[in-house]
Formats: sequence, structure tokens, C-alpha cells
Amino acid sequence: MKQSELFTKTLREAPKDEEAVNAQLLIRAGFINKTMAGSYSFLPLGLRVLNKIENAVRNEMNAIGGQEILMSMLHPKALWETTGGWNNIDVLFKVPSRTEKEYALAQSAEEAVTPLVLKHATTYKDLPLAVYQIHWKFRDELRAKSGILRGREFLMKDMYSFHETQADFDKFYAKAKKSYLKLYKSLGLTAKATEASGGAFSQKISYEFMVLTDAGEDDIFYCDKCEFCVNSEISKQNIGEKCQKCGKGVLHRAKASEVGNVFDLSDKYGKDFKLTFLDKNNERKHPIMGCYGVGVTRLMGVIVEKYHDEKGIIWPESVSPFKAHLLRLADPKSKAGKLADKIYAYLLADNIEVLYDERTVSAGQKFADADLIGIPWRLVVSEKTGAKIEVKARNSKKVNLMSYGSLRQIL
Ligand SMILES: [Zn+2]
Repeated sequence: MKQSELFTKTLREAPKDEEAVNAQLLIRAGFINKTMAGSYSFLPLGLRVLNKIENAVRNEMNAIGGQEILMSMLHPKALWETTGGWNNIDVLFKVPSRTEKEYALAQSAEEAVTPLVLKHATTYKDLPLAVYQIHWKFRDELRAKSGILRGREFLMKDMYSFHETQADFDKFYAKAKKSYLKLYKSLGLTAKATEASGGAFSQKISYEFMVLTDAGEDDIFYCDKCEFCVNSEISKQNIGEKCQKCGKGVLHRAKASEVGNVFDLSDKYGKDFKLTFLDKNNERKHPIMGCYGVGVTRLMGVIVEKYHDEKGIIWPESVSPFKAHLLRLADPKSKAGKLADKIYAYLLADNIEVLYDERTVSAGQKFADADLIGIPWRLVVSEKTGAKIEVKARNSKKVNLMSYGSLRQIL
């Protein structure tokens, strides 16, 4: 894509009403726009990142057998009254209608998915099954100051699994956990898994996935050998203690950010909706359910919090809006200018995602924008580079002159 065609412009200064680094950088670089506190729009560059994270999540959920659906976000009040959520969930957005009816905006979708799935899954032969969606959620937050880490409106992957027995849920949870850890790794994040007490309604177990980052709002002890971690507030453990899970590593303390969770919902929702399936003995039973969340917009924020420097964002390749940022620092009609156009055409032909800065602005501004936007590879073609390309990784100070052929070895 040609940068002159991007309708967004970079900003020199961070907006004054943003405290969070993720929002400051993403707004300055033109990835997102703030509609109001906790509510953001995703612009061309930001949407490319969001789509990449979304697809990484989708691939993992498909790989463990999840079936993708898209559920309505506007729910009738009756569904939320059935489960007790209408009166008990303080962050639930309640929407009055001119018809004098009231609705809820989904903050999670157990209320919608339970009746939906049990309409189709009627016997043990239909189980286990898991459905998921990647969709907007709403939370009526009192304070929304963390940029896209905690929004009033946010994109989330929520999967729901249905099982005959608790043991079968445990089996599926183990599979989901593996796939979550794989997902975070592919996004450049080191994740740990904690077991915390209590979902919203039951005393059943919930599992949280934490990413180590100084910007995190949680304080945890984590094992340096396995994925075990525990919240320091509730733990009696100490730094340097042996890990209780693997017995090999020792515990360290760090700040962390929650990037996913799993709730063991037991049979609560089947019971609330009085919905059952027919088991092997021809008896009516409520299914055991699990809920598996991943905050997609939140992940984008966590990645920025973790990967940036004083000049801007440093995207991991797997989620970067483009792989290469080509800068033309020459008159368009000059030999170097024409070479830059040619390199752009080559990259497109080779299916390399490239942002081409062919604007008529100063070299200084192009360099500053490249650092701020944070694409992993910066390629410069100028009078000084001759027939070659000056190549620099965003996370390194080293600059190399390369032929197009050598460049293709690393891209
Ligand atoms: Zn361990």
C-alpha cells in the first residue's frame, strides 16, 4: 500500500487525555481513534493488526474442533433474568427501548449460547461440542483509562463447550490450555496460567492466562521452567521457592496482564434454562459447560505495552500491519526514485506485505514515522544506496546494504 493513500496521519504529540502507553502510541501512529473513554475505532493500520490477531485466534480454535458462529449482541432482558445476571452483574449494559422493553448488550454470551446449542444437541451422541465467536462485547466500566486494555466496548473471542461429564470438560480444558499457550507464543508473548477462585456465580474454578509485562495490573509469582503462576495477593508463596507444579523451576515475581480466561461453568446454565440432553442410560441430564475467553483488542494493547521504545511501536512480525516499510528518499523522477518504485513492484509481486512511503515529505519525517508505526523491516532507497537497498530491523540499530536477492532471503 502507498502511504500517500493512507487517510490517517501521524501525530507528533500523544493526546493529553490518554494515560496508557498503548493508546498514546496507537493514536499517534494512526492505528486507532478514540470515540470516548473506553471506546475506540480501528483505522486501516489498526484493523490489519486486529485481523491478524483474530486469525491467529481463529486458527487455534479451529484446530481444537471449535465451530465458529456469530451471535446477536442485543439480548432480551428475559435471558439475563433467567440466569440472575440482570440484577447481579454491575457492568451489564442495559438498554431501554421506546417499546418500554429492556435489552442487554452482551458482556459474555452464555445466556444466548445455552438455549441455542441445546436446541440442536439433544443426546449424548451430540456431545462434546464447542462453538465460538469473535465479536464485540460491552462492559459498563466506571473508569476506562487503560486504552484498549480495558474498554467499554472490546473485541473478544468467546468459546463455549458442552460435555456429558466433568471429566470430559477437564480433558477439553487441557487441550484448550495448550492451544492458548501456543497462541500467545505465536504473538510474541510469554504466557503463564493461574488457577483463581470463583466465577461470577459459582465456586467453581476459573483459570487465567497472564502475560509478563511491566505494564500489567496484576502482580504474580511465576515459575521459570513451566507455565505455572499464581497471584501474589492470594498466595502464601515467596520468591525463590520451588515450583509446586513442575518441581524443577523456582518462583519469580513480576507484573502481568490477563489475556485470557477459562471458566468451569459446571451445570449452572443448563439448570437455569431447564435444558437437558439424553444420556447413555436414557436419563435427562444438564450438560457441563466451559467458557473460554481471549481479549482480541486487549491482546493488541498488551503487545504494544510490551513492544515499544521511546520512538514508537516495535511490532512482532506475526501481527505487524505490514512486513516491510519501504522509504523512497529521492526525487521520484531520479534513478534512485525509479529504483524505489521497482523494488515496491517486486515486493508486491513476491506477496510481501509492504507499506511504501513515496510521500513528498522530509527524510526526517519518514524515518520518524517509520519508527512510530513500527513495521519490523525498514527499507530505504536513496541516491546514497546506489543499486542496493538499506535494510534495518526496527528492533536493531544495525544497518545493512543489500541487493534485492539478499533482502528476499530475510523477508
Ligand atoms: Zn514449574
